[in-house]
Amino acid sequence: MIQKNTLKSTLLETQIDRLFRSSISGTLTNIFAAWLIFLLVQNTSQHDNAWLLGVSITLITFFRTLITSDFIRSPRFTTNTYLSAYFILTLMSGVCWGLFEYTQVTHDNDVVRNLIFLINFGMIAGSIPILSMWMPAYLAYVIPQATGIFLVFINLDFEGRYYIAFAFLIFIGLMVSTSVNLNRSRRNEIELTLKNNELIENLNEEIGEKVDAQRSLEKSKTMLEITVEERTRDLTDTNLYLESVIEKKEIAEESLQYLAYHDELTGLPNKNLLIDRINQSIKISSRDDQQMAILFLDLDRFKTINDSLGHRIGDELLKEVSERIKNQIRKHDTISRNGGDEFVIVLEKLKNHNEAVNVAKKVIKQLIEPFTINSHNIHIGASIGISIYPGDGDTPMILLRNADTAMYKAKKEGGNLVQFYDASMSNQLRDRLELENALHTAIDKNEFYMVYQPQVYTHNNKLRGVESLMRWNNAKSGEISPDRFIPLLEETGLIYSVGNWVVTQVVDFIAAHPENDFRFSINLSVLQCGHFEFINFLKEEINRTGITPSLLEFEITESLLVKDFGNTKLFLEQIHKLGCTIALDDFGTGYTSMTYLVRLPIDVIKIDKTFVQGIHEEDNNLEAIVRSIINMSDSLGMENVFEGVETKQELSAIRSMGGDIIQGYLYSKPMTGTDLTSWVKDRNSYDDQA
Ligand code: C2E
Ligand code: CA
Ligand code: CA
Repeated sequence: MIQKNTLKSTLLETQIDRLFRSSISGTLTNIFAAWLIFLLVQNTSQHDNAWLLGVSITLITFFRTLITSDFIRSPRFTTNTYLSAYFILTLMSGVCWGLFEYTQVTHDNDVVRNLIFLINFGMIAGSIPILSMWMPAYLAYVIPQATGIFLVFINLDFEGRYYIAFAFLIFIGLMVSTSVNLNRSRRNEIELTLKNNELIENLNEEIGEKVDAQRSLEKSKTMLEITVEERTRDLTDTNLYLESVIEKKEIAEESLQYLAYHDELTGLPNKNLLIDRINQSIKISSRDDQQMAILFLDLDRFKTINDSLGHRIGDELLKEVSERIKNQIRKHDTISRNGGDEFVIVLEKLKNHNEAVNVAKKVIKQLIEPFTINSHNIHIGASIGISIYPGDGDTPMILLRNADTAMYKAKKEGGNLVQFYDASMSNQLRDRLELENALHTAIDKNEFYMVYQPQVYTHNNKLRGVESLMRWNNAKSGEISPDRFIPLLEETGLIYSVGNWVVTQVVDFIAAHPENDFRFSINLSVLQCGHFEFINFLKEEINRTGITPSLLEFEITESLLVKDFGNTKLFLEQIHKLGCTIALDDFGTGYTSMTYLVRLPIDVIKIDKTFVQGIHEEDNNLEAIVRSIINMSDSLGMENVFEGVETKQELSAIRSMGGDIIQGYLYSKPMTGTDLTSWVKDRNSYDDQA
């Protein structure tokens, strides 16, 4: 769409163009008229004026022609410049004519004057078609002329001159209005033409676009055809390829199916298939009113072998084990490997429980026989737990879980055993779980507390120190023995935080009683030893309370020494470096190699109460053992502490053998901190009296 402003200027340009193109003939008419008048006035007083007019009009016409033709050929200046020049020149020719008319006032020949006026009227009317194209030009041309003639009319000396002047004015008005109308219609016409042109242009553009679109459509079509052809070829290839892939996939799926239901190592059914089979057996057994047994088997010592001889040997061993088990069961029974060293045997159509026990015993017997793998002679064993359908459960999960519980019991009782499930096992398990849950909140609920049991020198009856022992008073179950909850703390991993809590209790107690100059021993679990963060914690606690480190003793058990000698040694040395002493607890109950004892920084050995009870009785060889322990500790420069001394007889026996320190009910049961403080006070006053 043409903008309003652009339209206006285009309109003007078109007007000018048309004006300039048509004005050549008009200007020539001017020259012709001027020289015609010159001829008319040859013999009158106007001769000179007419000559001047002729020359002026000729000159003006010359310039007008010059600029119009210059514009038409190729404009050198702006349109406005041409227009202004044209306007001035037109005005000049109008003025020339006007002035010449005015001189006619004095014309002596009325006829000639009238002829001149006639010519002028003709020019005023005749210039309309050309100059109405641009109204300023027409007005510039006509107004001076009309003024000249009008002045002549009113100055002439005859009656009715005013009527003539008035009529003349009407004539001029009509001319101007005609010119204005013509001007308007021409401009409308030009405007219409311009708009039409634009419309045509737009149409052409649209047509062009359509043609382009058509062309690109055709192009796409051809491309599409080519692509379709290519795709078809590709598809055929892909089809062939897919067919081969599907074939491979089917093969893979088959083997996946196998893997999903079988143990890769032994080729036995895995747990998934096992559960399927148990489900099936349950259905059949329930329909036929028969019993079924689930034998849950776990190898004894497998982990040790796997760790020490390596996984390859472990794997070979598992394969051999599965072969041996297979040989012991009937064809329609199922044997599966559950992962690790766990196997499950399903015995269907069981006649009686003895049948299950017999199979289990046969299997164990086979597995006790040594295996030879890669020239290693390997001894293992197995523990088997049995659950029976329907008595011990009616879903695969319950039956398996109960057989597992029974197996756990068999293992606990020493291995190479067969154990039937019974409901009390589940109760034990449930109790244990309850206790475990209670343990998690025990610290927060303030259910733990410490008691202290005195240790006294045999030779002077003086207090050597106290052993710190933990107590748990549970809101629901009451006092729970450390023999029950310490293993639970270890299994749940709570032993680390609770172990730290014990240290804090003890150091706080020591710090609160600076008058005490005896040492406090703290029991360390096997798990805590080798956990080096404990050392940092201990350091911080000593620094925090400012206590003397030598007032702390740590008790460790023998089992620890065998576990990880290097690490234990490092751990104990660091504790030693802090200034604390170390005692070896429960000495004599396990196997302690002398080499360990010598190489570790141990200051004290604590002889277990099993060596103490009955020591005074004659006729036992305890005495000899105890004497040699005392000698050994003496020669290694260690102190010895006898635990569980309950009677004076035991005390005097130990004293006579040269034992150093006594701990036991004879002096005091473990007591709370408050009780300990008054106990110590009482003893001191008693000593003072003695
Ligand atoms: P333990 O370290 O051998 O502690 C000595 C046990 O013997 C204590 O049992 C103590 O009460 C008991 N006992 C002391 N004198 C006599 C006596 O004359 N006769 C008899 N029959 N027993 C006596 P308790 O307090 O029940 O502790 C049992 C075990 O729990 C401890 O054996 C120790 O291994 C562990 N334990 C106790 N407190 C802690 C602790 O704070 N941390 C760790 N890691 N273990 C602890
Ligand atoms: Ca102890
Ligand atoms: Ca002990």
